[in-house]
Amino acid sequence: MLTILQLPVLNDNYIYLVHDPITGETAAIDPALAAPVLAALEQRHWRLNVILNTHHHNDHVGGNLELKQKTGCTIIAGSDDRPRIPGIDRPVKEHDVISLGRHPIHVLATPGHTSGHMVYHFTDDGLLFCGDTLFVMGCGRLFEGSAQQLWQSLQKLKALPPATRIYCAHEYTQNNGRFALSVEPDNRALQERMAIINQLRAKHEPTVPSTIAQELATNPFFREDSPSLQATLGMPAGDPVAVFARLRQLKDVF
Ligand code: ZN
Ligand code: FE
Repeated sequence: MLTILQLPVLNDNYIYLVHDPITGETAAIDPALAAPVLAALEQRHWRLNVILNTHHHNDHVGGNLELKQKTGCTIIAGSDDRPRIPGIDRPVKEHDVISLGRHPIHVLATPGHTSGHMVYHFTDDGLLFCGDTLFVMGCGRLFEGSAQQLWQSLQKLKALPPATRIYCAHEYTQNNGRFALSVEPDNRALQERMAIINQLRAKHEPTVPSTIAQELATNPFFREDSPSLQATLGMPAGDPVAVFARLRQLKDVF
């Protein structure tokens, strides 16, 4: 079993540390900052072996160079981001399989939020580190891609086993859920989930991780085929990509 540590940093970012107690190896996913990672490593007597970056935004790579300098870790990131991710040692592309200890990690390309965005699927452990591609009840903004591209990327994630746990890089859930309710107000699973989310946030507790199954039931960006959602948008039986694009536009100004 892998140990997963969730470090809340900046306004609403999460850095994850994944530790394999068998081999003692540790990975940091999207270290926005070095200091909280170094403190967590020291406290647990863990050694950092590798950084996995999902994309080039500073709130995902800001700690790269200091961590590399202080721990000698290797930095893995998508090959398209090679020029713009600091300290990259090992560029990866879609369907590459890397590992932490004996735990295989399948790399998937998910362009849309950025052109080089990658996600890391620990296949045997059922864990997905998805950066800013998929959020709890939401998805990333389209900074460097089309709606069609991000929709296609999300189809890959939708197809993962339903029990897969989703570790996204931001705590955006409450706002995402409010938007989800605005487009699908009669979704019972969504109503029930929001009640739980509101309780968690009132106590400042994380709402991440989620699961693919929970997202299939409540995330509007996974539900472009929902008749009720299409009715709200005035797009009955709408083309999935067109509905998705409209959802993304509406969310941008929500
Ligand atoms: Zn980002
Ligand atoms: Fe981000």
